[in-house]
Amino acid sequence: MADKRDYYEVLGIQKGASEDEIKSAFRKMAMKYHPDRNPDNKEAEEKFKEVNEAYSVLSDPDKKEKYDRFGFAGVDPNAGFGGAGGSGFGGFGGFGGGSGFGGFEDIFNMFTGGGFGGNSYGGNYNGPVEGADIQQRMNISFEEAVFGAKKKIKLTKNVECASCHGTGAKDGTSKHTCPSCGGRGQVETVQQTILGAMRSVRTCPTCHGTGEVIDIPCPECKGAGKVRKTVELTVDIPAGVGGGQNSPVLTLRGQGEPGRNGGQPGDLYIVLNIQPHKVFDRSGDDLYTTIPINFTQAALGDEVTIKGLRENITCKIPSGTQPGTTLRLRGKGVRNARTGRTGDMMVKVNLVVPTNLTDGQKELLRQFGEAPVVEQPPASKKKSKWSDKVKDFFD
Ligand SMILES: [Zn+2]
Ligand SMILES: [Zn+2]
Repeated sequence: MADKRDYYEVLGIQKGASEDEIKSAFRKMAMKYHPDRNPDNKEAEEKFKEVNEAYSVLSDPDKKEKYDRFGFAGVDPNAGFGGAGGSGFGGFGGFGGGSGFGGFEDIFNMFTGGGFGGNSYGGNYNGPVEGADIQQRMNISFEEAVFGAKKKIKLTKNVECASCHGTGAKDGTSKHTCPSCGGRGQVETVQQTILGAMRSVRTCPTCHGTGEVIDIPCPECKGAGKVRKTVELTVDIPAGVGGGQNSPVLTLRGQGEPGRNGGQPGDLYIVLNIQPHKVFDRSGDDLYTTIPINFTQAALGDEVTIKGLRENITCKIPSGTQPGTTLRLRGKGVRNARTGRTGDMMVKVNLVVPTNLTDGQKELLRQFGEAPVVEQPPASKKKSKWSDKVKDFFD
């Protein structure tokens, strides 16, 4: 507690900020430091707790007033006034794991739903709780991203226990309302302090917030209502996915963890890791490649065959093509399933200078060199660039 930061400072607001300002500052900070967005980041986790603590005090008119008047002594649980800092945050333990934005919303609702406000405890805390989202990485090839694919993925997640259908109660036995909290899932304690009665709310220790107790727990899931299971899913990767991004994300609705009390299951986010290709680069729906051509092809024109991702592609080189020119092959890029459009293939030509000419060929070139040059193409003035480009090719 030594260098505890001022709650207003934590939320980045001024003392005297309005209720709305406090709420919106909290929302911003909580989103920023939410563990789902900062996995394995201890610092963010600490910040997140700090932000939640600050908000739990500043959003409560009673506690805010005490904090404004007495500082931490007015609200610090360690100072013996029970309340703001630690208690009521029992739910946060879950953040270390995989709880998703659904879980975040629940905590958020817990704050805004009147839990700390005063008269009515519980709110929707014991109502349907959405299951957590899951994030998983998947490697796919360049071609799979271009043409689409169906890929199997294995993931280990909580699923509803088949024995008890998620109730957590052994077959034939029942659940009944928790006697400690009367089914609210939270208990309230009131402590008398020199500042008056301080009320605090925390997760019911008897039912762990579910509001119900089980007579005989299901032996399969030990009363949890869910079991860890490795499941295999087929993921449909749409053609043209990612638009050239390296790590696009696919969302599989409802494939996350199961919800609680009839809540919706979470979502599965698959972060695709698209492997680079040896010959092609991609930007949006366009493919990029480089081909070597010789002096004769550049000067006289030619038709060359490019080995495409699936088929051979004919590329017409116009006569008088300058080194480094990029030719556009319309419609030979990526067909994007989402937009229905097909990109282009951009072919950069690199002029390769022959190194082992026969005597006859050398003689012909000499004769060519001595002939009067009728027209000097403009690009050939840039000698330095020209050689750079050829060098690129050999690299
Ligand atoms: Zn069970
Ligand atoms: Zn209870």
